[in-house]
Order: sequence, then C-alpha cells, then structure tokens
Amino acid sequence: MNNQSLQPEYMTRFQCIGAECEDTCCAFWNVTVDKETYHRYQSVKHPALQKRLKDDVVPRRESERSKLNYASMRLNSETGACSFLDHGLCAIQAELGESYLSPTCATYPRRINEIDGTQEVSAALSCPEAARLALLEPRGIDFEYVPRQEAANTQWNARLTSQSAAAPVTLKYLWDLRVLAIEIIQNRQFGLSHRIMLLAAFADLVDEAASGQAAEDLTPLIEQFRNGLAAQSELTIPQTFPVNHSFQLKLLNELLVGIMNENQIINVRYRDCLMSYLRGMQQAEGLSFERVLLFYEKVYRDCHDTFLNQHEYIMENYIVNLMFSTLFPVSTDGKMFDQVLYIGILYALIRMQLVGMCADQRKLTEEDAVRLIQSFTKNFDHSRHFKKEIVEVCKAEGVTALGHLSLLVMY
Ligand code: SF4
Repeated sequence: MNNQSLQPEYMTRFQCIGAECEDTCCAFWNVTVDKETYHRYQSVKHPALQKRLKDDVVPRRESERSKLNYASMRLNSETGACSFLDHGLCAIQAELGESYLSPTCATYPRRINEIDGTQEVSAALSCPEAARLALLEPRGIDFEYVPRQEAANTQWNARLTSQSAAAPVTLKYLWDLRVLAIEIIQNRQFGLSHRIMLLAAFADLVDEAASGQAAEDLTPLIEQFRNGLAAQSELTIPQTFPVNHSFQLKLLNELLVGIMNENQIINVRYRDCLMSYLRGMQQAEGLSFERVLLFYEKVYRDCHDTFLNQHEYIMENYIVNLMFSTLFPVSTDGKMFDQVLYIGILYALIRMQLVGMCADQRKLTEEDAVRLIQSFTKNFDHSRHFKKEIVEVCKAEGVTALGHLSLLVMY
C-alpha cells in the first residue's frame, strides 16, 4: 500500500459549508446505511438519539437488502431533509462523533478509488461547494500527492489491480491512457469540442488495437498519437470533424424532452435550470423548424460570444474531474470510445441547456453554470435509468461512431 494519495488540487481547499449549503446532501436523497452501521445504531444508548436511531433508520425489504445498502435514513416529510439534520447540522455527528457516521455520510462528497495500492480522491460535483472549487479554476485542474488518509468508515468507489491476468487492457494502461486523455482535454490550443473529438479519435484507435493481436503493447500507439498532435496532424484541423446544427438541435432537444417526460427531475435547482432553458427555447415556439434553427444558431452565437468562449475552462474542469473520479477509461460498460461518446453527450447536453438559459436570462454568469452542472450531477448521478436511456436514444439515432459524435459536439 502506498501512503500517498493523488488528488485534484481543489481538494486541499474543500471544506463542507454545513448550514450555509444551498443544496445540502442531506435532503431529497436516499441516504443509504450499510449493515454494520445499522446494527451499531440499534445498540446506541444515547438518551436523545436511542429512540430516533431505532425509528428513523429504516431497514430495506429483505429481498432488497445488501451489505452496503441495508437501510436508509427516513426523510422529514415536510422538509425532505434527513431526519437527523437539526438546524443544518447532523445530530449523529454532533452527539456521537464522526466515527459514527455511515460510510456514505462519512465519505461524501469524496469519491475514493484505489489502483495498485495508490489512493485517488476527488469530489462529486453534486456538492455545491466542491463544484464551485473544481469548476471555477481558470487555470484548469492540477493534481498533487498528499499523505494518505483513511478512516474505518471510508467508502470505496472502486479498488482495482492492474496486475491480474484478467485485467482489461484499459486498466493495464490506465496511467498512460489517462495522462494523455487529460492532456488532450486540457490542451487549449484547440476548442473544447475539438478536444473531445481528438479524444474520441484516440479512443477509436485504442479500441481497435485492444481487439487485435497486438493488444499487449499500447505504448507505441499512445506515443504516436501524442506526437501526431504535436506535429499538427490532420486531426488538429477542426474542419476534419463534420458539423450539423440541425441534427444537433433535434437530438439534444429530444434527449432533454425525454428526461422531462420520464419524470426524472427531482432536484429543485435542476428543475429551475431546465425551466429557464425551456423558456429560452420557447421564444421560437410556433415557428417552422428552419426558423427555430436560425433562432438556435443566433442564441448559440450570443451565448458563445458573451460567456461560453471566455469560460470554456468550466466545462473543461467538469470533464477532467469526471474522467479522474470515474477511472476513465476503465469500465465494465463498453469500449473506450463508448466512454468518450457518453462524455461528449453530457457536454453537449449541458452546453445546450446553458444556451437556452442564456436566451431566457439575456446573460449567463459563472454561478449559473455552476448551478446547472451541480444540480444536473445531483439529479442524475445516482439514476439507474439516465445513462441507459441516453445510450438507447443515441443508438436508435445511429449515434455510435466518431462522425455522429462530431455532429453532436462540434459547432
Ligand atoms: S453538499 Fe457538500 S457543502 Fe453541502 S452539506 Fe453536503 S458536503 Fe457540505
């Protein structure tokens, strides 16, 4: 085990703001309790908490229980907050101490992974304070090693080893692949949508190599791609990637309307953002599709000129944080290209919502962008259906390869 931990630099500055938080993690969320913590709570003798811990920590139905997901905190029916939240402070932490928190509560918003004994810690951007720190760093996200910290109630997101024979090739080359992927996404020589396409083109090559005989050694491919970018290969010309505003508008709008119709909107802050997007886009209601497209192109240009262009680092930081915290490109969920495709769709969806919000409000601020990304993440991070539905709609529309991803993200 390595006694160092790798983390984005913003983690050093992160501190929960407790009662000041505008979207506390203790509200409108299923706060899960593991089996060990549940039984520990049942034996607490604290005068003020004994009864509350018996009444308000509710075991799941037997058929739904697992070791990690054994019970959940009852939510206050009036406020929607965890019933242990007293005046913005957690009663369990205040009365019994941090060691009594369930792994979920003790760890959030940290997302902790371990690869070959090295710990990696980042934050879920569903936490407003973490989102502010991570997203609003104009220089981009830097990483640093700090002394490793680990409590008995730490919750691990994933613990992997690249040494086993069964490890997928993306895990064996995780470090090299991820370094180049982050290098690409942080390369400001190119526009961000172009960087996503460069990453997608690289992922395509990795998948092809991984499925062939030479899967054992990806090092030459990684170096070749890096050198190609430095030598201004054809991929570095934005016009290499096709653009289609009409396809983009139709598909992204279909995805957003699908999300709304499925009643998947739980987070109040996200609902406000979505309503603002709708009001912005509905200014073109009743027009022919050609006129709607002209309207979209105009509001996109306005939003780009007044906000998106100068604040591209916000979405760059979002993508870098997502890749680091989810161990990109390791996944049980498809090839490396599929991971980039999903990242590209998230990027395009968030950008489109910002454009609609800009049309509604006549301007955008950094706070608007943070609010949208934080609430979007909070609304969908734990949704079982969200990713599945997005992938299904994209498959049905034939968005499964480089060219189609380009139509969604390039502008
Ligand atoms: S969401 Fe973040 S800042 Fe807000 S209460 Fe939770 S950990 Fe603290």
